[in-house]
Amino acid sequence: MSLDTSTLYTVAAMIAALLGMMLLFFGFQEKIAALKWWGSAYLLGAGSVALWTFGSTRFGDLFALGLNATGFLTCGMVWHAARLFHGRKPNYPGLVLGALVWIAAVTTLPPGAEALRMTIGAGIVAIYAALTATELWTERRRTLRSRWPSFAVPVMHGFVLMLPILLGDLLHPRDRAFDHSVWVTMFAVEVVLYAVGTVFVIFMLVSERAVTVHKNAASCDPLTGMFNRRGFAEACGRVIEREANGGRPVTVLIFDIDHFKSINDRFGHPAGDEILKLFSAVVVNNLRISDLSGRIGGEEFAALLPCPLEEGVIVAERVREAFEASGIVCEEGPVDTTVSIGVAGGPAGTELEVLLAAADTALYQAKRSGRNRVEAAEELPLSLEHWRRKSAGSARPVTSVPRLA
Ligand code: GH3
Ligand code: MG
Ligand code: MG
Repeated sequence: MSLDTSTLYTVAAMIAALLGMMLLFFGFQEKIAALKWWGSAYLLGAGSVALWTFGSTRFGDLFALGLNATGFLTCGMVWHAARLFHGRKPNYPGLVLGALVWIAAVTTLPPGAEALRMTIGAGIVAIYAALTATELWTERRRTLRSRWPSFAVPVMHGFVLMLPILLGDLLHPRDRAFDHSVWVTMFAVEVVLYAVGTVFVIFMLVSERAVTVHKNAASCDPLTGMFNRRGFAEACGRVIEREANGGRPVTVLIFDIDHFKSINDRFGHPAGDEILKLFSAVVVNNLRISDLSGRIGGEEFAALLPCPLEEGVIVAERVREAFEASGIVCEEGPVDTTVSIGVAGGPAGTELEVLLAAADTALYQAKRSGRNRVEAAEELPLSLEHWRRKSAGSARPVTSVPRLA
């Protein structure tokens, strides 16, 4: 197959420029700095490929040096974009270092040291490609689905960006036959495939990011940063299943701040919010990393502990004491910070709703017995149906069973 090299590279440059503009457009529209950098790198890359194709020999050595340096700058920009995309700090010296090293190498090395220059150039590109790949690889939020392409594409990127160096002199060789060789055709086609492939990966990462952000927002309580009711239920489902597989019991705690309405009334709603934040910190600080907690209502919180009931009661008592001790004093006087806690434990595999319902009954008991205390559910709930049948005849109405989505 013999295709015209200049035409191929022109098409490659045009496609890269088009994709660059697309990335820039989305970058500005969605206010994603990384996309703006990626888009600019594409445009710059497209410009240098076009200039290489049409006139590097006509413009002389200095121009060729500038074009090559621009190629290294685009590598730096792609790496920089990957860093920004994953929330890392910009590294501007690193961004331009490759181009500077190249300029230094070309201006100081003797004209005959062609092989060494090419090695240095290839090395710079390889380093940037490896850095970009590492950046995407170590990103914690991505899924395995996008992990491989997002790693493989920058590696390929490095390879493709080496082309101006590898082919720099070859593109305009003494031997005219090279211009029409399969090699050059193949590389040109690869530039196009690479450009399109990268944009595909970038948009895959962006869409995954958007899904993650929305998912987190839907399961998070903005005031305390804890799980909300929905997030808590989802996370608990996974933990209960995991513990059930190991045959281990689970325990649920429900916390309800005492006389919270009167805190709001006396000190104001913003002060009430501060108490809610304080309580969430107390809960998180007194639980283990393997425990789950969330804000399941206005001033109601819950926790799921992978442990038996007795251990759960000890933890509840610890939280109660810590919250009581954290009492704060406002201008208007001291704010009482006490909490009542209901605890319920069940054997491996007990449903969350069953545990919550039993813990809620225990909490009700704690409130009735004077507040600022921990009460444990008297019996282990067996199943929700069983619990519903039982509670239908009890004093606590069934409608008060906390239902989680
Ligand atoms: P008890 O000891 O029986 O639990 O009394 P309580 O006053 O805590 O109970 P009640 O359920 O009557 O009051 C809960 C209050 O929580 C009522 C509501 O105004 C307040 N609340 C709910 N959500 C928020 C919030 O996000 N911020 C603030 N500041 N208050 C809230
Ligand atoms: Mg309440
Ligand atoms: Mg309350």
